[in-house]
Amino acid sequence: MITNKHNLPKVFENFARSNEYSRGESDISVTSLIDSPQIFKLKELNKDKLDVDVSDQIFSILGTAVHSILESSASDDCIVEERIFHKVKHPSGKQIIISGAVDLREKCPDCADGWIVSDYKTCTVNTVRYAREGKPEWENQLNCYAYLLRSERKQKICGLRIIALCRDWSAQKGSIAGNPDTPIVTIEIPIWDEDKAISFVQERISEHLKEDSICSPADRWMRPGKYAVMREKRATAVKLFQTEEDANEYLPQLRGGGYYVQYRESQNIRCMNNYCEVSAYCKQWSDMKEALGDSNE
Ligand code: SF4
Repeated sequence: MITNKHNLPKVFENFARSNEYSRGESDISVTSLIDSPQIFKLKELNKDKLDVDVSDQIFSILGTAVHSILESSASDDCIVEERIFHKVKHPSGKQIIISGAVDLREKCPDCADGWIVSDYKTCTVNTVRYAREGKPEWENQLNCYAYLLRSERKQKICGLRIIALCRDWSAQKGSIAGNPDTPIVTIEIPIWDEDKAISFVQERISEHLKEDSICSPADRWMRPGKYAVMREKRATAVKLFQTEEDANEYLPQLRGGGYYVQYRESQNIRCMNNYCEVSAYCKQWSDMKEALGDSNE
């Protein structure tokens, strides 16, 4: 259900309604296929109970604005916002219709019959800083699009790209070593061969067909626990280590006294920060919270 807790103008409600996600006539979209099966199932089970407040739609508004503006500026020789449906036969005998929405498909400049596929991401400078080679989920998503285009439209795919639009870029941030020096960055993504793409799609379908799937650490965006070297009367860590041994080895190098090692629990960022829409209905998360006490609340 769409709510408007902060009484924003009606246009925001209208946007949220028009933007309600639809995967059309498919069983699953590419973005859900590559994501956690448990989240997909819990969304389906609780779709009538899930609330979305219009004030939480800011990134959706920005993303939609980017897509809409770039769609209206596209030249005639490219294909934009193309939704593709493809029926996949799984070894279990089930037939699954997968859909994918391709942001941009352009003619390959190096051959007569190939295409370059791009996906727009509105993200932060930090996202690009730490994903110069792309993220695994970007590679999975774009290669699923390539698979759909090859299977359904018989297209040859010559390149895959993320076009990252850094919404918080500034000249000052751009001048810091390691940060992107322009606000719009193209990231080339490796193309899989057809066998790898088919196996990946089949494996993901198998995961989604399992009755008892739970979220993996990667699905939960788990940040592993760390060992912090702390000093008395100082609130922040002097240095963080992956292992207790490394943290203890560092202690003798420090001048003065009052240093000690403190363990910081791993954190399930997606579950604990309301990034997961279905966390209120998730038994795995409620069990984890119970086991961890309140350190992951
Ligand atoms: S709350 Fe966490 S464990 Fe539960 S579905 Fe969401 S991401 Fe998965």
